[in-house]
Amino acid sequence: MNQKGLIVVVSGFSGAGKGTLIKRLVEKHKDRYTLSVSATTRAPRPHEEDGKDYFFLSEEAFETLVKEDGLIEYAGYCQHYYGTPRDFVEDKLAEGIDVILEIEIQGALQIKAKYPEALLLFVTPPTMEELKRRLEKRATESEEIIRERLLRAREEAKGIEHYDYILVNDDVDETVKHMHRVIRSAHYTPERNEEFIQRIRAELDDI
Ligand code: 5GP
Repeated sequence: MNQKGLIVVVSGFSGAGKGTLIKRLVEKHKDRYTLSVSATTRAPRPHEEDGKDYFFLSEEAFETLVKEDGLIEYAGYCQHYYGTPRDFVEDKLAEGIDVILEIEIQGALQIKAKYPEALLLFVTPPTMEELKRRLEKRATESEEIIRERLLRAREEAKGIEHYDYILVNDDVDETVKHMHRVIRSAHYTPERNEEFIQRIRAELDDI
């Protein structure tokens, strides 16, 4: 079967709990999954580390990376650039490890166009009241930024149909298990196993 890793895009409203889900998933299955660290031009939040949470870059440095084709996708989000560095993703896929990209919808669509076998997951809280509550609880952002992110959520909600699966995150442990099952299943679809199919057909021809 397919020995190459899959790109797994995880999108969802800011405050949907994507970060926590992905962290748990990767901790539980270190041999199968890894998380891509994005480049961004936004400023670090207080607890964030350069090289771990993001590569924090100046606009100039980001633009250079784009020109050199060092990103497999990039997008503007709330006045800043975000993008996925190419080398790490391609190396890990070749090693047979699934690479998780926690990215927004414009980037997700670029990935789907370039890597049709990629799996696109959309994470949402059960209700939008709950989303607002989670954003307020996080309290690392001003009221204005929270409002901006809720407005952005309305935009992103228009693109949910482009994703392969919706994950309703009401219980983190259950959602992590569900996410793992969905990703494992994706490895066995015919369109992600063309080489295998060609091989068994050729073997049948030889019998
Ligand atoms: P935050 O500023 O809250 O860390 O991220 C803002 C948004 O940017 C989130 O929706 C996050 O998923 C998205 N994002 C993070 N890294 C990337 C990336 O490399 N590419 C794209 N397109 N979006 C990203």
